[in-house]
Order: sequence, then C-alpha cells, then structure tokens
Amino acid sequence: MSRFISQKFEKLVPYTPGEQPQDKKYIKLNTNESPFPPSDKAVSGVSDIFKRLMLYPDPECTGLNEKFAKLIGVEKDEVMAVNGSDEILNFAFSAFCDKEKTAVFPDITYGFYEVFADYNGVPYKKIPLGDDFKINISDYFNANATVFIANPNAPTGIALTLDEVEEIVKNNPDNVVVIDEAYVDFGGESAVPLIHKYDNLLVTQTFSKSRSAAGARLGFGIACKSLIADLNTVRFSTNPYNINAMTMALGEGILDDEDYTRKNCKKIIEARLFAENELKKLGFEMTNSSANFIFARHKNISGEKIYKKLKEKGILVRHFNGERIKDFNRITVGTKDEMTVLIGKLKEIIKEEF
Ligand code: PMP
Repeated sequence: MSRFISQKFEKLVPYTPGEQPQDKKYIKLNTNESPFPPSDKAVSGVSDIFKRLMLYPDPECTGLNEKFAKLIGVEKDEVMAVNGSDEILNFAFSAFCDKEKTAVFPDITYGFYEVFADYNGVPYKKIPLGDDFKINISDYFNANATVFIANPNAPTGIALTLDEVEEIVKNNPDNVVVIDEAYVDFGGESAVPLIHKYDNLLVTQTFSKSRSAAGARLGFGIACKSLIADLNTVRFSTNPYNINAMTMALGEGILDDEDYTRKNCKKIIEARLFAENELKKLGFEMTNSSANFIFARHKNISGEKIYKKLKEKGILVRHFNGERIKDFNRITVGTKDEMTVLIGKLKEIIKEEF
C-alpha cells in the first residue's frame, strides 16, 4: 500500500478470486464455470464486431436487454445488463445502502458481499445459518437493512423455495431485498415473476454459469422500473459503457441458442446426481445442492488435505477456511467424464490415506 491510499480504503480487505492458473492444465472444478464452451451459433456474430470496435458500444444495451427481457417474461426497462453480476451487486450496495440503511446477509454465503459493503462504507450484519446450513427466513423479516441472499446459496448450494423468497420480500416492505440467482438454472426457482408484485425486489442473474460465458463478464439485474432506474443512476455515474460490444454480441448469440443452455443445464444436473451418488459411496456427506457445485466433506480426511491432494493429481476444487466449513470442499460439477475422473482420483486418495 502506498502512502497515497485514501483513508477510506486503508483497511479494505479485497476479495480473493478463486485460482485461475495459467501454467498448467487442470480439470477445473473450482470456480463454478460451465464445462461447455459457448455454442457455434452463440459466437457466430462476434467476429463482425471486431471491425466496428472504433465505435463506443450502445450504453442502453438495447438489443441484448430486449432479448433477455423477452426470454424471462419482463419488459426492457425492467432489466439492466452488467459487467458480470458482481457489478450489479456492487451497484446495489451503492444505490440502496448507507450508514443508516445497512446490509444483512448470511454468515456463510458469497464472500464478495462483505467486500462490497466495506468498499461502499456500508455497515453490515452477518446472520448465522442454521445447524443444517439452511437459511432461516424469519431472521430476515423487517431487517431494517438491505437484504442480500444468494439463492441457491453458495457455497452450500441449498435453495429456498419461491414461497420462502416471497415471504422475505413481503416482510421487508421498507427494504430492498436482493436475490442473487447466479445458480438458479440448476434446480432453483427464480423469483423473477415477483418483480411485478413487489417494488422492493432486485433479482440478479449471470451468464457465467449456465450460459458458458464467465470470460465475457455478463450479468443482469431484474427489478421494477424504478429500482432499475436507481441502478442506472449508479451505472451512468460510473461506467455507462459497462458492456463492451463483443460481450453484447456474444450475449445476444447465447440468447438465440437457449436450447443449448437448457440442454447443458440438464447434463450438469445429471452429472451432479451421478457424482453425489459416487461421493456418498466413498464416505462423503454433502449438502442438498440445487447448484452446479457440490459442497462435500469426507468423514475421515480433512478438507484441506483433499484439496491439496486433488491439486497434485491435476484437479482443482475450492477450499474455504471458515471455521464451520473448513472440512468441506466446493466441487464444481463438470461433465460426467470429468466427474468420473474426480471419483477415480478420490478413490486413490482414500487408498493412500488408509
Ligand atoms: N453470486 C454468486 C453467489 C457467485 O458465486 C458468483 C460467482 N462467483 C457471482 C455472484 C458473480 O458472478 P459473475 O460476476 O461472474 O456474474
């Protein structure tokens, strides 16, 4: 840190992204990307854009917003494209939180929420998950703060039902409730239909998981028009051209091939079920995941050891250090073939240990 750092950032502890190793080819099961590349149809329009890159992109993201809105059954002014859903989460902390309207979220959830809170100078409270790692919805009623909930939650993968989400939204008439649906396409229920009923609900989604485009950085906010207008105030005050022209073209291509997305989600859910069964046979226990990852611990081997040994054997998974979760690893669900290799390597590890 230099002596010039502003006072407000002196104590900021930045987010640590998952490993993105560039040196060696791993089976990469650590940051919940899709194992499937974008389809040929999805990328077909992108190269035309290169020759138009001397121009700024459309700050209104018209074509992409229209297509996405149509797909999810809302209006164009009820969505906002963002540079990865991380961007809209940060915008939500800026737009809807301050020293009086603080933030609440579970103690075990997406680690970026507290970093965004700190970055925006927003005090926050972390509410412990239950013994079963579940969110107790009544903990969030009348929160007197902006509520941030990942549904399904990460890294547990446990989903709330749509009724439970509605209870949280309904019981916070004076607070914005942000439902982060990064993993909703793998078995969760989306809260998008509720935006027409509640003016305090913001849903966030991403193209980084089910839509195979983590590298392009594309996400969406979905809410009633007035909340989207607030978020656009933040966007136009920081980065009006937040979606670059290549990402815009890719995003439209991806939406033109929704079949491919749905088929891939089905394959991932099947691979998850396969891996969960095999992991159980090897002595792992896991939470009930509705996401494209499995949160698992072995009854006899520490989470850290499994993480390290898998890495030596060419498989990357995610290990977290929190007290309650240090025995677990979060394992992204890849293809069935990748899951088969994973199970084989875990069998080797178990044999080496005993
Ligand atoms: N929310 C959750 C719960 C996540 O796990 C992630 C990805 N790490 C994100 C949001 C952000 O996704 P992106 O910025 O790639 O859209």
